[in-house]
Amino acid sequence: MGVSAHIVVVGAGIVGAATALALAERGFAVTLLDRAAPGSAVSGASLACLGTHQNSEVELPQLIWATRRWAEWDQRFTGAFHYRRCGQIRFIDHAADISTAEHWIALERAAGLSAQLLNLDEVRRIEPALTGPILAASWSPDDALVNPFLSVRTLLRAAVEAGARFLGHQPAQRIDCQGDRVTGVTTPDGRIDANTVVVTGGPWTAGLLAPMGIELPIVPRKAQCLATVAQPPTIRGVVGASKSEQGGVHGGYTQIQQSEAGQILFNTVLAGGESAPGSPDRVPQVDLPFVVDSATTLMRLFPGLRHVDLLRSWVRYEAVTPDDRFIIGPVGPTGLYVGAGDNGTGFLRAPVIAEIIASAIAGTRCAVDPSPYDPARFAPKVALQ
Ligand SMILES: Cc1cc2nc3c(=O)[nH]c(=O)nc-3n(C[C@H](O)[C@H](O)[C@H](O)COP(=O)(O)OP(=O)(O)OC[C@H]3O[C@@H](n4cnc5c(N)ncnc54)[C@H](O)[C@@H]3O)c2cc1C
Repeated sequence: MGVSAHIVVVGAGIVGAATALALAERGFAVTLLDRAAPGSAVSGASLACLGTHQNSEVELPQLIWATRRWAEWDQRFTGAFHYRRCGQIRFIDHAADISTAEHWIALERAAGLSAQLLNLDEVRRIEPALTGPILAASWSPDDALVNPFLSVRTLLRAAVEAGARFLGHQPAQRIDCQGDRVTGVTTPDGRIDANTVVVTGGPWTAGLLAPMGIELPIVPRKAQCLATVAQPPTIRGVVGASKSEQGGVHGGYTQIQQSEAGQILFNTVLAGGESAPGSPDRVPQVDLPFVVDSATTLMRLFPGLRHVDLLRSWVRYEAVTPDDRFIIGPVGPTGLYVGAGDNGTGFLRAPVIAEIIASAIAGTRCAVDPSPYDPARFAPKVALQ
C-alpha cells in the first residue's frame, strides 16, 4: 500500500486519536470519525493514570514503552494535557499481602523501574493525608496523571495538523466490502471510500463488526466514579489497593486522586462486586452499593475527608475481553483492523495500540511486541458476507 492510501479510523476516543496521529505522521490520508464528540465516551470519563505499577506482568515491556511515549508527548506538546509524574501508592492492609507487593516490586525493578515497599513513616512523607489504619504500602514514583479531555483533544489536533480529517457526530453505520476487501464506510452523510478501516470503537466495536460475520469477545462493563466538592491540596498522587487474595477492596479495584480543580475523584469496586455487563447505548445511574463502598474506602484511608460533600457521579462503559488484554490487529477481510478491549486501563495503552496498528498498515518494524494482543488468540469467527 502506498502512502496516499485512504484510511478511515472509526472512534475518536484516546485510542482512535492516537492511531489517527500515528497514521497521519506516516503519511497516510486519514479520516477519523466519531458518532459523537471526540473523547465523549469512556476516554473523557477516565481517571487517566499512566501507571505501570501492579498492572500487567505479561504487558510490562509494552507498558514501559507507553509511559515513555506519554512523557515524550508531554515534551512535544509542551504540557498541553497537564502530564504530572505524581507517583502511585498501593496500600496494604494484610501482612500476607506484603509478599505479593514484593513480587511486583521485584518484577518492575528488574525491568528498570523504581518501585519500592514503604513503611508507615515513608507513606506519610509521600502522602501526608493518608493516615488511615494501613500496614504498609508499595510505591511507584514513575506513574503519572494526565487530563483525559485535553489528552484526546491534543492528539486529535496533532493528527489534523499532520493532515488527518476529523468528522464529529458522524457514526459509521456499516463497513463496506467487495469480495474479501474493505472498500469504505457508510455514514448518514454518504459513503467514504477507503481501502483500510481501523475500528477503535471501544465497547461498540463488536456490534459494528457483527453484521460482517466477525465475532469478537468484547463486552461492555459499567465503570463508575465519584467526585467531591473542591478541596485544598490534600492528595498528591494516585492511591490504590495493593493486589491481594484477601478479597474486599484488595481483591477488587480502588483508585483515589485529586483533580487540578481540587475535587477528590475516587472509585472502589469490591471483590465480587463487579457490575453486570450492559449496553453502551444505555448509560445508567451509579449503583448505591458502589457509592457506599467507595465512600467507606475514602473515609477510612483519609479520615480528614470524612465531612466532605459529594458533588457528582458518572458512569461509562468500558470494553472487556476474556483475558483483560486489547485485541489489536487485522481481522476478517483484507484492510480491516481493530484496536479495542480496554479492560479499564486503556488510557495508558493508547500509544501501544497506535504503534501496532500504524506499523502493521505501513509494513514497518513495530517498536513493541504485538503478540499479546493478536486477534487470532480468540480465533475470531469470520463468515464473510
Ligand atoms: C472512571 C474511569 C477511570 C479510569 N481510569 C483509568 C486510568 O486511571 N488509567 C487508564 O489507563 N485507563 C483508565 N480508564 C479506562 C480508559 O479511560 C479507557 O480504557 C480508554 O479511555 C478507552 O479508550 P477507547 O478509545 O478504546 O474507547 P472510547 O473512549 O470508548 O472511544 C470509542 C469511541 O468510538 C466512538 N464510536 C463507537 N461506535 C462508533 C461508530 N459506529 N461510529 C463512529 N464512532 C463510534 C465512540 O463515540 C467513542 O468516542 C478509566 C475509565 C473510567 C470510566
